[in-house]
Amino acid sequence: MNRSAAQSAAQHNPELLQDAWTCQGCGKCTAVCPVSRTGLGFSPRRLIQKAVQDNVDTVLPDRALYACLGCDRCTQVCKSGISISGLMLKLRALAYKQGIAGKPAHAGVLQSLMRIMASGSAAPQNRLEWLDSSLSVADQGDVLYFVGCAPYFETVFNYLGVQPLRTARNAIRLLNHIGIKPVLLPDERCCGHDLLWLGDVDNFKKLAERNLTQIKAAQARTVVFSCPEGLRTFKLDYPRYFGSLEFEVLHISEFLTSGTNGQLKPGALSTRVAYHDPCRLGRHLGIYDPPRKLLESIPGLELVEMKHTREAATCCGGTCWIECGAAVKSLQNERLDEARSTKADRLVTACPKCDIHLRCALVNAESDTGPAITNIVDLVAESLRLTEPAKPRKAAKHTRKGGEAYAG
Ligand code: SF4
Ligand code: SF4
Repeated sequence: MNRSAAQSAAQHNPELLQDAWTCQGCGKCTAVCPVSRTGLGFSPRRLIQKAVQDNVDTVLPDRALYACLGCDRCTQVCKSGISISGLMLKLRALAYKQGIAGKPAHAGVLQSLMRIMASGSAAPQNRLEWLDSSLSVADQGDVLYFVGCAPYFETVFNYLGVQPLRTARNAIRLLNHIGIKPVLLPDERCCGHDLLWLGDVDNFKKLAERNLTQIKAAQARTVVFSCPEGLRTFKLDYPRYFGSLEFEVLHISEFLTSGTNGQLKPGALSTRVAYHDPCRLGRHLGIYDPPRKLLESIPGLELVEMKHTREAATCCGGTCWIECGAAVKSLQNERLDEARSTKADRLVTACPKCDIHLRCALVNAESDTGPAITNIVDLVAESLRLTEPAKPRKAAKHTRKGGEAYAG
């Protein structure tokens, strides 16, 4: 490392470079990085070294900065204890202030929706239109169910046949089944995960403030999530900006299997499933056992593990709806192949985004063969015969652009 250059850069960005400065250049991060493995030239080691040795400003316009999925596989092997995804977050925030951002997928519609949600009273929502009269919900109470972006995903990804609102309804059915009438916020906003990972900290903070104000008014003591990104954002990011939370946050698999709420007894289902650990739930939050415990509580269900599982699980290739190109497609296909090799009937996810990304790969695969991708909430509701039927899956293939190499 060129120490004087590093010192000069660090003087300009002392906090930003605090971690990166300890990089030993060993390359272990690049060796395990799933994006690096795709052979398109992305190297976290190179990016970090460039940020430290050159002026930090030189890495900000680099597309490689947006190739990182934030999956945290690298952080597990770094002997210097560097949070590479944390560094990417800081660099992206700096880049965003200079008007630089990643290339949005889906024509940027999701980022636009999030910014509209951040804009406040100018954007009233009909947020709970998807509820039906069989579901029991409350305005105030101890347990709040945070729905997340399911209403928006349902519309934007309709062509893939995903049904995130069916999952949300099933989450409420499961809570109702154990005697809980959850609070739902009539004006809930996106948790802000994607804007934060894009570097748009100001709009992330606006979203977070709106959610925290409403949760306080609802007097909730526990907030339950079926979206791991929402859970991660509340658990790790909100406290960084707003101090400790005044309520407990749990993934629904934790809530349904915990001692206090362990009343749920699923019905029988004869099926063989492989469980895909979402990065935010697994490596970011260490939640590996509760989803497995929930699955194993279904009589007749056989749980099998894929080659890369738990701490070593491969990312679904999703990030904050940017840089969706050949690298992520390759990861998704690899993950589907791993699931196929287990001979499981279903690949179970605990994350709506994993569901979207893996289904996208499945419907665009040359041979559109299983396994069926199922959300864990839907599977448990199915075991209890609580769920509405799934819509037949559409198979709308689309043309993907991308595949450019990452020079950084
Ligand atoms: S594993 Fe850690 S120390 Fe090694 S190159 Fe990567 S960031 Fe640097
Ligand atoms: S967080 Fe994941 S995608 Fe990003 S550099 Fe690390 S291993 Fe690669």
